[in-house]
Amino acid sequence: MPRALISGISGQDGSYLAESLLREGHEVHGLVRRSSLEVPHVKMSRISTVMDQLTLHPCSLESQTALLEVVREIKPDYLYHLGAQSFVSYEIDQEYATLDTNLGSTHALLSAVMRFAPHCRFYFAASSEMFGHAETSPQNESTPFNPRSVYGISKLAGFHICKSFRENEDIFACSGILYNHESPRRGKEYVTQKIISQAVAIHRGHSNVIKLGNLDARRDWGHAKDYVEAMRKITEFDKPDDFVVASGRTHSVREFCEKAFSLLDLDFEDFFECDPRFFRPSEKTPLCGDATKAHEELDWAPTHDLDTIIEEMMDCELERTASFTN
Ligand code: GDP
Repeated sequence: MPRALISGISGQDGSYLAESLLREGHEVHGLVRRSSLEVPHVKMSRISTVMDQLTLHPCSLESQTALLEVVREIKPDYLYHLGAQSFVSYEIDQEYATLDTNLGSTHALLSAVMRFAPHCRFYFAASSEMFGHAETSPQNESTPFNPRSVYGISKLAGFHICKSFRENEDIFACSGILYNHESPRRGKEYVTQKIISQAVAIHRGHSNVIKLGNLDARRDWGHAKDYVEAMRKITEFDKPDDFVVASGRTHSVREFCEKAFSLLDLDFEDFFECDPRFFRPSEKTPLCGDATKAHEELDWAPTHDLDTIIEEMMDCELERTASFTN
């Protein structure tokens, strides 16, 4: 039975990946913060239905010795490193933790693999944020990186560490350069889930306003379930390599809002209030991914478009909040 270890198992991607690996007969281990184990109903809700089939290890990404120890103990066949400080900030002088944690954990896990499980296939969750102010659109694996956020810089460093373990140490280390991917399990700090939950709150009469930043911002949005399947194809491919994983289409925040509100027979413009707090530094080129390489080499293609993503998120939010209505 193949043994997989997932960092970030309780997050959106980790939870879908764990379910997919369990379906395919893997033994699945996950790294979780000790503090999360103390409040499982809050922090582990995404994996609650499969919890009894998982082996969870309390281990923080900040502790490089603990990471080394877990890999030494489990000797995984697959290691999916999805955990990270994921806050997208542009304040480089305030973001030591993002840089330290994301860089240090990737380095420690790869070193551990080299020492204790050199056969392991290592997946690194890279990000479209690495392209930052990209010179061209759409971006593919040959597009120069130009990160602007601290998160993007930390992911780019992790990407290069991965590449160096692959090229210098012969480790099967690969990266998926994933564009935004959403689902009902997305956190409320992201604009998609914020729009869905606000739309439902307005529909239920619990609110009458939605405050957002730049409605013209565009994103290449896909479904997390599709992107998790891409991760599996990347690690099961015959050679380690890096792949862009994207839908190849961008939509604006405004389009997302209009589609979501119209599902509830509401006109988004009646409730929208512009809030400068939610504006980001200017985004020169919209990030749009060209996943031709993943299509051709991995036979991967997304199975959800934006409409089906919004419908699924909306259905889940309506169901989740049904019991709160009077
Ligand atoms: P990310 O920035 O790609 O990690 O994803 P987000 O979902 O946080 O943001 C997507 C886009 O929505 C960005 O271009 C934001 O500028 C834009 N946006 C507009 N209003 C909001 C808002 O109220 N919250 C967030 N998170 N993003 C917003």
